[in-house]
Amino acid sequence: MDYGFQGRVAVVTGGSSGIGLATVRTLLGSGARVALCARNEGRLADVAAVLKRDFGAERVLATALDVLDEAAVEAFAVEVAAAFGGCDLLVNNAGQGRISTFADTGDADWRAELDLKLFSQIRPVRAFLPMLREARGAIVAVNSLLAYQPEPHMVCTSAARAGVQNLLKSLSVELAPAVRVNSVLLGLVGSGQWTRRFAEREDKSQSREAWYAALAARKGIPLGRLGDPEEAAAAIAFLGSPAASYITGAQLEVSGGLSRHI
Ligand code: NDP
Repeated sequence: MDYGFQGRVAVVTGGSSGIGLATVRTLLGSGARVALCARNEGRLADVAAVLKRDFGAERVLATALDVLDEAAVEAFAVEVAAAFGGCDLLVNNAGQGRISTFADTGDADWRAELDLKLFSQIRPVRAFLPMLREARGAIVAVNSLLAYQPEPHMVCTSAARAGVQNLLKSLSVELAPAVRVNSVLLGLVGSGQWTRRFAEREDKSQSREAWYAALAARKGIPLGRLGDPEEAAAAIAFLGSPAASYITGAQLEVSGGLSRHI
């Protein structure tokens, strides 16, 4: 599907895997030039080589960095400005969840989780804001249903995600009318995190399909399966696109119907 990004520039944090990579491919497929970042240099270089082959080297910029590193994120913004001349869309996707109950979560874990969830939004927003204002652009944050529907076995991730949702609402007001700010609330999407958890399963004879199906049944997902990264990417691209020009401060749930709140 073409989301109308011809002539536009998008930045995707955590673009080397899973939902971030699917988003990069969707945006490139819709005409954007895309800058992506992630920490692992080797994996990022491999991904960038494939993207450049598929979409053209001049449309892809890949930089290895940690989104929590303020100086590196600022330098990335300068690099994007020099290479592409601006930024129309920032997708804050980098990160991962933390599985731990209250009893298992020490102070250092709480601080690390709050730091990751909040500053993976704050640092890129600060760095790219001048360009986003200039372009009258958009921010899409990748967040989780846990923000509204906490899980006790992911206690600090849930609390941090609620804080992120609160921050985004404030940003959507403060940055309006120049920059739109929206989020997707994911349920379970079959990407990197779940691939890693599948690899660590107790019963190693269980196939990926069987493990995913049992997981969807256990979680009570009405659509009966995990989402695909491309399905999350479609929602992200829509919210960042001209088709969503009157949408800001909103959250779009991509969960196969998992939420229990109205
Ligand atoms: P993946 O593990 O497949 O991808 C995560 C990406 O983020 C990788 O490119 C990773 O690369 C990068 N990344 C992680 N930490 C940092 C960092 N500090 N700085 C820069 N890049 C970083 O995960 P998913 O695609 O599943 O997840 C994408 C987002 O969606 C995450 O924020 C996740 O928490 C969220 N989410 C996912 C759900 C799911 O079911 N999949 C559910 C709810 C939310 P590298 O390791 O090289 O840095």
